[in-house]
Order: sequence, then structure tokens, then C-alpha cells
Amino acid sequence: MEGWTGCGPGERRWRPVSGGGALESDAIELLRALIREACVNDGRPESGQEIRSVRVLQRFLAPAVATGRLETQVLESAPGRASLVARVRGTDPDAPSLGLLGHLDVVPVDPEGWTRNPFGGELVDGEVWGRGAVDMLYLTAAFATVIRELALAPERPRGELVLLAVADEEAGGEYGIHWLAREHPETVRVSEAISESGGMRMGRHVAIEVAEKGSAGRRLVVRGKPGHASIPYGAASASYRVGEVLQRLGEVAPVPQLGELWGAFVDARIDDPVLAQRLRDPVSVDAALPQLGGIAGYAHAVSRVTLSPTVLRAGATHNVIPAVGTIDLDIRTLPGTSDDDVDQLLAAVLGPLAAQVEIQHLRGWAATASSPREPLFAAIERAVGEVAGAPVVPIMAAGGSDARVLRELGIPAYGFGLLAPGWSYERYREGVHGNDERIDVESVALSLAALRLIVRERVG
Ligand SMILES: [Zn+2]
Repeated sequence: MEGWTGCGPGERRWRPVSGGGALESDAIELLRALIREACVNDGRPESGQEIRSVRVLQRFLAPAVATGRLETQVLESAPGRASLVARVRGTDPDAPSLGLLGHLDVVPVDPEGWTRNPFGGELVDGEVWGRGAVDMLYLTAAFATVIRELALAPERPRGELVLLAVADEEAGGEYGIHWLAREHPETVRVSEAISESGGMRMGRHVAIEVAEKGSAGRRLVVRGKPGHASIPYGAASASYRVGEVLQRLGEVAPVPQLGELWGAFVDARIDDPVLAQRLRDPVSVDAALPQLGGIAGYAHAVSRVTLSPTVLRAGATHNVIPAVGTIDLDIRTLPGTSDDDVDQLLAAVLGPLAAQVEIQHLRGWAATASSPREPLFAAIERAVGEVAGAPVVPIMAAGGSDARVLRELGIPAYGFGLLAPGWSYERYREGVHGNDERIDVESVALSLAALRLIVRERVG
């Protein structure tokens, strides 16, 4: 299909060397077009302007819409903050409705750190360069390619396929998936879904996200006795209290909680049996972490509730001893951790200081997990096995994504992707939000091939 991408004059369309790659070529060109729209989301309501990438998707999907088999809706939560919902209906109401959840926005760049134009969408030596290439425009492009293929196929599918190409994932989804789920709940009513965060290689395994940690922000408030700073005698500065609490937080940390996903991670990633045994034991795991090299930070994060002091406040004027100080904590929880659990954990960490500290709740959300025993996960396993000859390992993400909104609705939702060998978890983490973000054509092709098998099995 020529002429849908809006490529500048003189742009050469990429063609795969070997046969059977028209879809790959379309996905690559769509990815490049989405990168060039530069829907940068810096957290301000007026940023993102995802409507531009929605227009690109509309042009791409137009031939399928023309057949009457693909229904599309553009939904705008605020001026320019658009999401596109595209749907191919199935013949069997009892068959699954599979959602493909992709976001259109990208995080800002530091242009100084880039060796190429971050919004050029250049294809160089088999790699597409640009902000969002990995997170997650390559998947959004693959999702759109597959739904277009399904809509253009001669037979109607058994089940339903829904593309949710949404705004605002990078700033928490208030203008995207949250708004859609709240204001247009029918758009997100699918029976299962796949989204980003998957496909990284762990040992000989391919990692697929099935769970995400939660967030339980807390503000610790400490009080002192104010006074004029020129006569500190008899005053009790809240600044000192802040210091005492910080020191305690640096010395006492939540203990590891090693669940089923931790065991799967160790089995998949660690070949050395002695090291694996130490990692499976809550007593020895922390001493073994340094041996994990670049993946130690991830391993630390997913094996416990973490607690990071971020914003400190005390005093407003330099000559007044402050009466109140606060410490904001970023706390990341595990599936099953309740708000009460977090408060009890904090009290335990604070120990003798707890009585002097008031705990206030900041914004948060619970950790979410989908069972790896659902039929969709089995379909992902089969597709990855067929395309890459590799087993799948279910993993927990330390951060959050839009998928949790679907999980909160009771919809099994998994990360997806099938990256080429060489894409370790560490390399993936560096690619996401880093300088010189880029993805290789091979990874796009592998992901597309696996995605087509999954769609065929679940709804085809
Ligand atoms: Zn993302």
C-alpha cells in the first residue's frame, strides 16, 4: 500500500530482503511514521497531542475501514489528547475478545545525548531509530498491522479483535486509558489483552510480563519545637527529626518476599546452581545480589517492597527553626500488599521512631497480576515457541503500565514482544527512555510473526 505514511518526498520505503515480508515492511513504515509525529508527553495536559499519531493510524487503517469490517472511533479526552479504538467483530459471541493495548505517546529526549535525530525515524543498518521505537511504538505499529490484516482477510474471524491505541501512558494514563475506562467503558470491554513489556531474553527464555508492582506513596510528618534560629537552646528542630528518620530508613529495609514469580525468574536466568540456591533463600538472597551484575537492581526491586525517600521539606525561612518536617516516600508494593500492610511495614522500619512520626497517604495503586495459567498466556507460549524456539518465563515489572487498568477490571493482561537474541533485560531497560533508543527490524518481524499466531489462535 503506497502513500499512507505521509513520508516526506524522497523517502525510500524499506523492503525486507527475503520473501513474505509485506506486513513487516508495513509495520516498519508505520513505526517510522509514528516516531516522526513526536507525541512527546512531559506530563502537562497540553503535551502529547496524540491526535497526530491517531491521524497516521487512520490513514494506515483506511483500506480496512473501507471494507466495512473495521470500525474505528477517535475519542478525545482533552484538546489533542486523542485515543483510537478499532474493532473487528467476530461471528461467535462466545469466542474471546482480544484487546491490543498500545500507547502513542513517548517521553521527552535530551537531544544532546543522541547521535541521530530522535524524531527522524531513520532506518540505519537494520535498525529504526527514534524516541518510542522500543517503548512502545514498535508494538503499537505491529498491533495496527495485525488488526488491518484481520479486517482485510476473506473470512470473518470467530472472535473479536480490538486495538486500543491510547494517549498519555507515560504520564499515568489520566488522559488515556483511565479516561477511556471511566467515560467510555464499552471500549475497554475485552475478555483478555496484551500490551507492552515483554520479549526480553532471560537465559534461553523469553520474558513476558504478567504482574506489575503497585505504588503506595506515603508522607512522613515529624514535629519539633520552633524558635528563633539565633537562640537554638531549648528548641527542637524538625530538621533534626527529618535527619533521624532518614538515617533509620537508610539502615532498616523491608525484608525480601520471594514468591512464585521470583522462583521462575531464578530458574530462567541463573545457570549456576549454587548461586540459584542462595537466591532462593530469603536469608542469603541479598548477599548474592551483587553477583547478578546489571540485573541486580531489577532483582532487588521485584523481590520485596521497596522504599525510597524522595522529597524532603522542613522550614521556610533561614532564621526560623522549623516546627514541621516531611519526608515523601516512593513505596512499591508486591501483589497482595494492602494499604494496612504498608503502614505496618513502615511502623516496623521506623521502630522506636514510629511513635513520633505521623504517616499520611499519598496517591497510589495496588500491584496487579494475571495468572500465567490463562488460555491467552498459553497462546503466547506456543507462539513464542514456534517463532523463536524458546520457552517463556512470566515476570513481574518493577514499574507500572496501562495494563494494570485492564487487570483491575478483571481482564487477564500480559506484556508482549519477541525481541531478537541479544536483547537481555538490561539492554531493554536501557533502550526504554534512554538516549539513542532504537529497535532492530528483526525484533519487529519476530514480534509481528508471534502476534499473528496469537491472534489466529485466540480469535481467528
Ligand atoms: Zn510504554
